[in-house]
Amino acid sequence: MLTVSNYHYIRNNFDAKYPSIFGVTPLKFKEQLLLLKNEGDIIKPKELLKDIDGILQSSENKFLITFDDGLKEQFDFAVPILDELDIQAIFFVNSMNHQEKKVSTVHKIHLLRSIISTSEFLEKIYNIDGFSFSNSEKDKAEATYIYDDKNSAVLKYILNFKLTFNQQEKIVKELFDIYFNEDEVLSSLYMSEYNIKELAKINCLGSHTHSHCPLGLQTSDVIKFELENSKTFLQKLTNSNIDMVSYPYGTAETCTNEVAAFAKEEGYQIGFTTKRGKNTFAENQLLLNRFDCNDLPGGKNYR
Ligand SMILES: [Zn+2]
Repeated sequence: MLTVSNYHYIRNNFDAKYPSIFGVTPLKFKEQLLLLKNEGDIIKPKELLKDIDGILQSSENKFLITFDDGLKEQFDFAVPILDELDIQAIFFVNSMNHQEKKVSTVHKIHLLRSIISTSEFLEKIYNIDGFSFSNSEKDKAEATYIYDDKNSAVLKYILNFKLTFNQQEKIVKELFDIYFNEDEVLSSLYMSEYNIKELAKINCLGSHTHSHCPLGLQTSDVIKFELENSKTFLQKLTNSNIDMVSYPYGTAETCTNEVAAFAKEEGYQIGFTTKRGKNTFAENQLLLNRFDCNDLPGGKNYR
């Protein structure tokens, strides 16, 4: 059986004015790898491609390590630890950050929320011409995000449900440009093209689509473009094959059967969601389950 552990941010220090980015420290990452190594066999991405059926059906514990979002800190902090322990991971990268030199909206939101308060963020949205948010919508927001404070619930609800992805992109861009320089963020947040080529050389590169949008909520044309363009761009850049994809957000509404079918059509062999669970028998190899690292042994939610 195969258990997949997924990571995003990895840094020594997560301090911020308004802490909004969560991840693992290099030390915690190493500790977790050692724990997993003790429980089974951490396989290489190439091994999974070669014998996915054998691995899923195996009675032994097999683990795969994955990283989403193509962040520079992954290359700087995780790769040396992986090398030291003789382990490989697969890194899923978005093509937009490199091809269009644009920061993904999801990261713009993380960065904004780390320097401005939730109420300031909301005020900026309320000030946008034509924007309205009713009391009944506020009630719905609070009911949707019961673990968040009122303002955070409303902000999350607006970003995730009230606005379309395009509207969200536009509003977030306006705010982001007030506080950040996109070129500076691009070079400090994301892997360089050189880093990406290095990962491809050892078969550790996959696609996280082009622009990190929620695929299942897009039109067929957009879904196809997101899958096809990122694959082609990364293949040309690295002169290698890109056979695996991880879908942004990875939830049921973003990874539909339609999305998986398009991924297959574009030539991907394996796809990863964020649906929790081990993989024993894949009904669909383009929709494998994956745990957040925090939910596995050594993670902060594991019990
Ligand atoms: Zn992502």
